Amino acid sequence: MKIEGVTLRELRMRLNAPFETSFGITQDRRILLIEMLADGVTGWGEITTLESPSYNSETTDTAWHIISDFLAPLVVGQNVSTAAELPPLLEPIRGHYMAKAGVENALWDVEAQQRSMPLWKLLGGTREEITCGVSLGIRENPQSLVKKVEEELSCGYQRIKLKIKPGKDLNFLTAVRNVFPNIVLSVDANSAYRLKDADHLRKFDEFDLLMIEQPLEWDDIYSHALLQPKIRTAICLDECISNDRHVIGAIESGACKIVNIKLGRVGGHTSARKVQDVCRERKVPVWCGGMLESGVGRAHNIAMSTLPGFTLPGDVSASQRYWSQDIIEPPVDVGPMGTITAPNGFGLGYNVNRELIDRLTVRTRSWRDAAYASS
Ligand SMILES: [Mg+2]
Repeated sequence: MKIEGVTLRELRMRLNAPFETSFGITQDRRILLIEMLADGVTGWGEITTLESPSYNSETTDTAWHIISDFLAPLVVGQNVSTAAELPPLLEPIRGHYMAKAGVENALWDVEAQQRSMPLWKLLGGTREEITCGVSLGIRENPQSLVKKVEEELSCGYQRIKLKIKPGKDLNFLTAVRNVFPNIVLSVDANSAYRLKDADHLRKFDEFDLLMIEQPLEWDDIYSHALLQPKIRTAICLDECISNDRHVIGAIESGACKIVNIKLGRVGGHTSARKVQDVCRERKVPVWCGGMLESGVGRAHNIAMSTLPGFTLPGDVSASQRYWSQDIIEPPVDVGPMGTITAPNGFGLGYNVNRELIDRLTVRTRSWRDAAYASS
């Protein structure tokens, strides 16, 4: 595949409702999309950074800079036989996993279209249907959270995840567990606690949680390895894992029993497959986490979630939970049993709504291979 051109765009999209985590509240999203042209076929990727460096060190603006000044000039004009050959070319650029993932994933979409197959099958996916959970932001009070949980359960979602932070944890969990004693429940702290809080975190054990996600510092696998033997609840790592080397270290040191794979955080489909392979070999279940993506990122998440290691319900849910109108058609829909059917169309399997994307775009930059620039 000869990469003829790359277009980078920034879209402004407003979430249906504000989303609160331990690191802040988000409602207005600045979404970056990559449109890649190779051998005359267009593929799409999304850069899943947040606006601020609060989840990881990347932001919408750092990704714009890295893609503009390094990644796009590097990939345009390259000739590769598969999208899996792209990551080695990007290796000289350290870090910036989400920026790289957006670029690489767009080429996966191209390759799947060229091979006339759905992306999920090209990746090696084996599930025709993926199971979905929801991630609920921090609420003002336990009563409103209980009401929200009830709503989501009535939509069929198979796992409820609650965002927590110190002062908004045990009281919220108690309220939810009292009303729903048997649901599959987990919590996500987004690094809001410290190892000295181990006694407090042990209190979570009585709620029979599927997992506690990333309780300690975002870059500290060792402290999680010290915490796990002190609590019964399984630790799931999210922020700590950027590649297969990290996940080997985490599992072998006993820092986690479950892994959340975010396609952007690990740098794209090639790395995500490696991470899930490492986990499968060690019998550690994985699931797909979300970054408040638009439909393009959501479609890539669905493709990744069909891989055999993804045995737990992920955070990929219906478009309408986030957007009044998504940029893909049809929007992602969740069935009454809380599942999404992997699409059968070639590539992403959803149509990208170009007209809507144009309307939402606030800035664009394009690169063309010199051989095609004059045509
Ligand atoms: Mg998380």
